[in-house]
Amino acid sequence: MTKQAFVTIKNAAKSYGKLEVLKDINLTVERGQIVAIIGPSGSGKSTLLRAINELDPLSSGEVWLEDVQINKKLPHRQYEAHVNQVRQNIGMVFQHFNLFPHLTVRGNITLAPRMLKGLSEDAANKLAEEQLAKVGLLEKVDEYPSRLSGGQKQRVAIARALAMEPKVMLFDEATSALDPELVEEVNLVMKQLAEEHMTMIIVTHEMDFAASVCDRVLFMDQGVVVEEGPPSVIFKNPEHERTRNFLRKHL
Ligand code: ADP
Ligand code: MG
Repeated sequence: MTKQAFVTIKNAAKSYGKLEVLKDINLTVERGQIVAIIGPSGSGKSTLLRAINELDPLSSGEVWLEDVQINKKLPHRQYEAHVNQVRQNIGMVFQHFNLFPHLTVRGNITLAPRMLKGLSEDAANKLAEEQLAKVGLLEKVDEYPSRLSGGQKQRVAIARALAMEPKVMLFDEATSALDPELVEEVNLVMKQLAEEHMTMIIVTHEMDFAASVCDRVLFMDQGVVVEEGPPSVIFKNPEHERTRNFLRKHL
């Protein structure tokens, strides 16, 4: 038997009606690897990322985390339980933070560990404080999201995802909605995770960040992976004209 990668995407396809958004995507990510996905708007990057944790289930193909198939076909009830279970292993960070506005930072971070993992209030609080300290925001623990800057909100969103102790983190343009001066503080948190060998799949428009943090870069266009390779190759010496065209506009 061949060794199973940490994250495996096999023959992934997704259509919305007649629109084929993903066409036969194959991707493997090893434990501790950091993969960047780049490509023009509308190329299917978010759809692919959202397929990994079943937010946008694939039309066909398979998604695996280690030896567990995430997009298993199951009767409704079993499917719900299965998805709740596997999502605990997959942290996701969105462009627009998606914090719960009516909960404090503490409430945002402790909710899932309490509800899904059954942690006590004390244990969840301790976890929240640890994760907040890690992203440098312990002093904001009792603040509401509306009183935080965009960069702080995104760091809280990262702390919230980390509090579930996920096996893999997905980032969908985590810094695209931020004012330029707030991008670096979020990038620093992601760099710190990289140093800790967190497995990450990062959709980004920031080519410098991708080049400095990621082990591999995938260039997607119109629902296909046009090419992939180490940043040194993709950014400096890409094989395909479509990649060169894209990079000309974004480097
Ligand atoms: P990207 O993240 O690379 O910008 P997306 O994955 O968001 O691209 O979108 C890929 C394509 O799928 C786009 O053409 C988009 O309009 C389409 N799309 C995404 N979500 C939906 C949806 N829920 N219904 C219909 N079309 C969608
Ligand atoms: Mg997107």
